[in-house]
Amino acid sequence: MTLKISGDFSGRTIVVTGGSSGIGLATTKLFLGAGANVAICGRDNTRLSNAVVELAGEFDGDHVMAETCDVLDKDQIDAFAINVVQRFGGVDTLINNAGQARLSTFEDTDDAAWREELELKFFSVIYPSKGFQSHLEKSESGAIVCVSSLLSRQPEAHLVATSAARAGQLSLIHSMARELAPAIRVNSILIGVVDSGQWRRRFEADPDAGNDYEIWVRDISKEKGIPLGRFGTPDEAANAIFFLGTPYSSYTTGATIDISGGFSRHVG
Ligand code: NDP
Repeated sequence: MTLKISGDFSGRTIVVTGGSSGIGLATTKLFLGAGANVAICGRDNTRLSNAVVELAGEFDGDHVMAETCDVLDKDQIDAFAINVVQRFGGVDTLINNAGQARLSTFEDTDDAAWREELELKFFSVIYPSKGFQSHLEKSESGAIVCVSSLLSRQPEAHLVATSAARAGQLSLIHSMARELAPAIRVNSILIGVVDSGQWRRRFEADPDAGNDYEIWVRDISKEKGIPLGRFGTPDEAANAIFFLGTPYSSYTTGATIDISGGFSRHVG
């Protein structure tokens, strides 16, 4: 369900890394619907162009900016930050969303894969946060929201590198929350399973998946024993991101919101 936002967020500028698909795209729509300016980035030009066409059909194009940018390339991020500020005059919220999981066990994760995964989970937060920090500090209500995973607290053996990297990333995010306060609040959402582009790709790559995506997803929900009985939607993740990325959560920093349908089993 997409929230109908009652406040006026016109004049607020949001940056969404990985805004061309899934959770990032749903978040972009939610902020645009609330009147904000949104700048998105992704690596794949076609995916980005398709997102821009989709957004132009629903929203005023003057409020949208899209740029090809790899969050692991510091120079590209720094150039993106300059362009966003030139276009919209500043930045109020950064959403560190870009990324994906790596399916692998301790046995089959080689050294290069470990390095790639650690680099992705750490630098997808470090480069954009550093690149936009000085602009966020100028906002009256600067906020960073990191789209993270329940794996940071509840590791899975078949996602060994992603789980370990997410745990380290969560520690980094908590340290940033202390150091960047009070100018910038830093929070994260912890996702269990949300139906998005990456699950579509896993379905397409799974030789045993059959040919009905809905059935495949339903079977996984059952197998995992998700108490709410289904995958989450990108909109449900976006709603939590919106709360953390706006003054609605003005007294919250260093916190996490669980978006896992009750799949979380840890206490605290
Ligand atoms: P999608 O694959 O639908 O979207 C991922 C987005 O990130 C795309 O826009 C992609 O575009 C972009 N992206 C990936 N790598 C980079 C990069 N290096 N630089 C810039 N953009 C990049 O997946 P989701 O919406 O599911 O994923 C969003 C976030 O949520 C990810 O960090 C993911 O790990 C996390 N998450 C998702 C879960 C789920 O169940 N869906 C579970 C736990 C965490 P492009 O490929 O063109 O660059």
